[in-house]
Amino acid sequence: MSAAADGAGKLGGEPRGVSRRGVVGGALAGAAGYAVTKVPGASAALKKKPKRKADVIVVGGGLAGLAAAREIDKAGKSVVVLEARKRVGGRTLNHDIGGGEIVEIGGQWVGPTQNHVLSMIDELGLQTFDTYVTGDNVYYRGGALTKYTGPIPPVNPASLVEVAVTIQKLNDMAATVPADAPWNAPNANAWDSQTFDTWLRDENLTAEARDLVILGIQSVFSAEPRDLSLLFVLLYVATAAGDFNLLIDTEGGAQEKRIVGGSQQISLKMAKQLGKAVQLHQPVRTIRRKNGGVEVQTGSGKWKGKRVIVTLPPALCGSIRFLPDLTAQRAQLDQRVPMGTVYKCMAIYDKPFWRDQGLSGMATSDTGPVKLTFDNSPPDGSPGVLLGFIEGQEARDFAGSSKEDRKAAVIDSFARYFGDEARNATDYLDKSWAADRWSRGCYVGFMGPGVLLGYRDAIRTPVGEIHWAGTETATEWAGYMDGAIQSGQRAANEVLGEI
Ligand SMILES: Cc1cc2nc3c(=O)[nH]c(=O)nc-3n(C[C@H](O)[C@H](O)[C@H](O)COP(=O)(O)OP(=O)(O)OC[C@H]3O[C@@H](n4cnc5c(N)ncnc54)[C@H](O)[C@@H]3O)c2cc1C
Repeated sequence: MSAAADGAGKLGGEPRGVSRRGVVGGALAGAAGYAVTKVPGASAALKKKPKRKADVIVVGGGLAGLAAAREIDKAGKSVVVLEARKRVGGRTLNHDIGGGEIVEIGGQWVGPTQNHVLSMIDELGLQTFDTYVTGDNVYYRGGALTKYTGPIPPVNPASLVEVAVTIQKLNDMAATVPADAPWNAPNANAWDSQTFDTWLRDENLTAEARDLVILGIQSVFSAEPRDLSLLFVLLYVATAAGDFNLLIDTEGGAQEKRIVGGSQQISLKMAKQLGKAVQLHQPVRTIRRKNGGVEVQTGSGKWKGKRVIVTLPPALCGSIRFLPDLTAQRAQLDQRVPMGTVYKCMAIYDKPFWRDQGLSGMATSDTGPVKLTFDNSPPDGSPGVLLGFIEGQEARDFAGSSKEDRKAAVIDSFARYFGDEARNATDYLDKSWAADRWSRGCYVGFMGPGVLLGYRDAIRTPVGEIHWAGTETATEWAGYMDGAIQSGQRAANEVLGEI
């Protein structure tokens, strides 16, 4: 099946080929035996006693929800996944660029030590390919462009040392932060009482070193250093195998590999295996705990189960009504994990023209709106795709802008790094995840000062029959596809231990 036919769709819309029927039509449907048939005249049915049952109800059909459902199904228990959108994949989304090729408008890269997602890719029969890094990279600073080979930009030597020392310091500090209980770190109080920005100012770096560290932070969190608790940044490093370099590197880091056919394939394939257990277009409105079980109400039906696993980012949990109320601790936590802000922007070209100039397509810049670029062409290099990110405050400043304005600004950035040929794009696409009501931002929910210490394990602690998953709850590669899968598997095992 071509990638396009297997799930790529219109931007911000629903993927072609991921019709409700396509996703739910798998072979497991009959075997699972749930009474999850579509009810004609749903509004009347709503008023009746719930007929739809599963041992476990999973809210959200992203990677976390589908990975959880898969574990529960494998254990021989019945499960239903209730997904608000008309597609699975959540923060991963393939986009059809024609000619049987796709690009990913959400999460895409995987890298070393991301063992949960790498195993899943393997199990599902998917393949990876290397991010294109051949040729010179571009470093743009103070209006001057320099080309360089290898991973280290031609930064002033003093600044370079400062960046290396800062990263080492972060790694050393993160080594004292338990990924599953950061509030127990010996310096948790001091580190959660300041922002990353405050800490960085005290480091007194050169302007160039400081700008590079800030760019690293913006690219990882799509938020500003002033938004982030220092302890939260260290927790992130701790969950990423303890190395900040892994977060920011392409070769040998989290941006090393891409998935043939696009990352949404992981969800599409899991959903196909789960068959009718995956119910699309079912925004969950109410979760009621009752008689030792749960009743979950969507826009068009009610499901009854023994346990529910909620996989939404905390910022979206407030859109669900919980009866009885969540604990005050959990309800307040949900008010304190805002989503980052990012536009992932791509220009399509007849061919990757920068490769002919001996360039890799990777640029690092101090000038916005696009400060980081990548060659995001399909494996065979046709067509050429340049990818750039608008992150953090730059992205907030673009809120409400027209696509034409963003295109002009992004293409200007590309032309600054790769010359006027960058103006000959045949297509342009981007997506504001902040404007998407089922994500409300990306890449991830983050925490400012005081949240980790104030709310501790409320992010994972079940509230009665309600269990929590989602990449924000992960203890390995939190914020990434890997963390989403890890969190789903962890929550499934919690629940399986109880039912
Ligand atoms: C632009 C971008 C780039 C990224 N780059 C990378 C990358 O390169 N590598 C990487 O590993 N990660 C990347 N990420 C992050 C990665 O995509 C996420 O960590 C991961 O997909 C999160 O999965 P999840 O299942 O935890 O959450 P989600 O994918 O958000 O899943 C939650 C699901 O719940 C659904 N939902 C919401 N509200 C309701 C409701 N009321 N009822 C029912 N369903 C509901 C949503 O529709 C969604 O499907 C990126 C993300 C973005 C957006």
